Amino acid sequence: MDHEFKLLIDGELVAGTDQFDVVNPATGQAFARCAKADAAQFEQAVAAAKRAFPVWAAESIEHRAMLVNHLADGLEARAGEFASLLTSEQGKPLDQAMYEVTASVHTLRAFAKMRLETVTLHDAGGNTVIEHRTPLGVVAAIMPWNFPIILLMNKLGPALVTGNTMVAKPAPTTPLTSLLFGEICQHVLPPGVVNIICDQNELGSLLTSHPDIAKVAFTGSTATGKKVMASAADGVKRVTLELGGNDAAIVLDDVDARQVARKVYGGAMANAGQICVAIKRAYVPEAMYDDFCDELALMANAAIVDDGSKQGTQIGPVQNKMQFDKVKALLADARVNGTILAGGEPLDRPGYFIPPTIVRDISDDAPLVREEQFGPVLPVMRYTDIADVIARANNSEYGLGGTVWGRDLERATNVAKQIDSGTVWVNQYLAIDPTIPFRGSKQSGIGGELGQAGLHEYTQAHIVNAIAFADV
Ligand code: NAD
Repeated sequence: MDHEFKLLIDGELVAGTDQFDVVNPATGQAFARCAKADAAQFEQAVAAAKRAFPVWAAESIEHRAMLVNHLADGLEARAGEFASLLTSEQGKPLDQAMYEVTASVHTLRAFAKMRLETVTLHDAGGNTVIEHRTPLGVVAAIMPWNFPIILLMNKLGPALVTGNTMVAKPAPTTPLTSLLFGEICQHVLPPGVVNIICDQNELGSLLTSHPDIAKVAFTGSTATGKKVMASAADGVKRVTLELGGNDAAIVLDDVDARQVARKVYGGAMANAGQICVAIKRAYVPEAMYDDFCDELALMANAAIVDDGSKQGTQIGPVQNKMQFDKVKALLADARVNGTILAGGEPLDRPGYFIPPTIVRDISDDAPLVREEQFGPVLPVMRYTDIADVIARANNSEYGLGGTVWGRDLERATNVAKQIDSGTVWVNQYLAIDPTIPFRGSKQSGIGGELGQAGLHEYTQAHIVNAIAFADV
């Protein structure tokens, strides 16, 4: 690829001190080079963000929101270019890549509409107590590889609108869309307000421990999230951790098995299963178990698995070799501990392709059920008792999302309320919107993104408690 992808530091697009290959997961071959920052460039990025902070924080929120809208305009104008690059580096089919880009535009615009209110807590007898919100300073944004562009916007939108500056670091296997966005930032924003640096996993711990970083907004695995939290502890930095999940789908006995199977299939297989809130295990009443599994297998066998850049592809490759190997190991275990109804073997071609795989008759303690598979593989378990299945769904260190499927909405909603996770969708999946807060319970995270609550995560609540001088 001809394009030269550069870092954004202090308003300049700069080459790294080194470069590394970015692999297209559909071929397993490098297709572009990415600038790599060393520790000195990392320090320059943090220093630039620190310098830019007081001026940016002093601008009106209307002015900052206007520039965030300009970023959205820039992204929208180049949506096709971003989507195509996203497919090349991430692997997702082009239509799903375009969806991620347009949702990113929508997210920036949604944050640009939000405002911080000053709340009067007390106003009597000459004593006024107000709570208002102030920005934190320099925010570190650290992203994973499954949704590289929208997960950056979920952080950048609220951070900038509320007056913070940022050093952003994408995942090493999907850095290019972030760097392309850096080109837009360079045109739109004052120098230093957003800095984007890339690494091969060396800079994360520097970011989370740097004394001039006030907050770390991290999305990634629970294992890395724990390191982020430990590293941030020393400076008592604010952290938002959006971590892993193992979402259960509970199918109730008053629905049509095949109709719901088709929905559950969609929730499990979008982005080749690499979604934090993908359906990662399904619990189905005994009486409809066979029909449900057979319909899933029909869907899986009919799926078009191919290079995401080809028209009509429904499922692209797994994003990287490490994840491909992890999913292959889970498949090997499922072959022994369950019955594979569809898929089960990687495709015999270059790239990291695993066809949609349906596994039945597998026990709750198999690794495929207990762990986060993060690939296009769905285990399906049977149940007879509703209280028991709720307990089984909750028997996980994760608590990110989940779905309940039932014709009787009141009963389904009542089941949803008993699932210990941040979000439960009833008769739908992945209904994520920038105006609705999103957060994990248990080891799926701390704090949250999106919504007014997500905006507040980038601020300090500040109390001013005043009485007239005459009353002193
Ligand atoms: P990962 O934890 O391996 O990496 C995430 C980011 O952390 C990368 O940018 C990486 O370079 C960086 N990093 C590595 N070591 C670090 C350290 N010591 N300190 C700070 N940063 C460090 O995650 P991944 O494999 O890229 O992403 C997949 C995971 O992300 C899955 O578990 C998935 O469920 C989760 N995820 C969660 C959400 C959510 O909103 N809860 C959304 C998407 C993905």
